Amino acid sequence: MKKLAWQIHASLGMTSDDEVNYLCFTYDPRVATNLGTAFTDELLTSFTRKKEVYYAIQWDEKKGDFSLNVPGVLDALRRFASQKNPVRILGFPAHLYKVIKDHDVHLTMPLDSWIQTGGGWKGFVNEEVPKHQFRHFMATRLGIPESNNRDMFGMVEHGIPYCDCSRGNLHVPNYARVFIRSPRGLKILPQGETGLIHFMCSYVTSYPSISLLTTDYGRLGSCDCGLGGATLEIIGRAGVQKHKGCALTASKLLE
Ligand SMILES: [Zn+2]
Repeated sequence: MKKLAWQIHASLGMTSDDEVNYLCFTYDPRVATNLGTAFTDELLTSFTRKKEVYYAIQWDEKKGDFSLNVPGVLDALRRFASQKNPVRILGFPAHLYKVIKDHDVHLTMPLDSWIQTGGGWKGFVNEEVPKHQFRHFMATRLGIPESNNRDMFGMVEHGIPYCDCSRGNLHVPNYARVFIRSPRGLKILPQGETGLIHFMCSYVTSYPSISLLTTDYGRLGSCDCGLGGATLEIIGRAGVQKHKGCALTASKLLE
């Protein structure tokens, strides 16, 4: 799994030997040992050498709960902007967007800095900013080029990370196959048409999820950035029932 994630990120030009400062809008893994996001954070900070790693969602003894340390985030942003090391900002896009907007942050991050978001805008649907607007906003406020702003998509049951290319499209890695199926009759639909996303994974054999029909709508497309593979656009939930997961729990911290 780790090697696979490395290969995918290397093909996207996201691995490097630089010593990087990390700002993670995620749970402090020293406390949140039982949450799925801790593994993801470890993985996402493993593509470079590390200088400092700042985890923004910390355990608050007084509240007896996790909370987003906003003053700590602002401090980390200023501290990292004043150093030469590249910066990588990881986590839920809503957290980053709100902090930068609410506190009117204007900084210039060092060369080769990146933003790697994931988990979507669950719980903040009304405030969701379209991807191209989010990329432009972060480029103006943090000086991180749009091509270095990458969103990720993954499902724990599928086990393959999907990451934006420089143009902001999710290419289907060669470790996976994706089919779009009609919700009526499950017929495979041609590229460009919207239907239920059917994932196939090349390596999960420990439990029966090699083939996973999701309750999400999506469509396949193409991209001319030079990378191979069709692109996958996730359109949204097809079901009527609410699903809960780590990402949803974390987004509640800002409500
Ligand atoms: Zn592309």
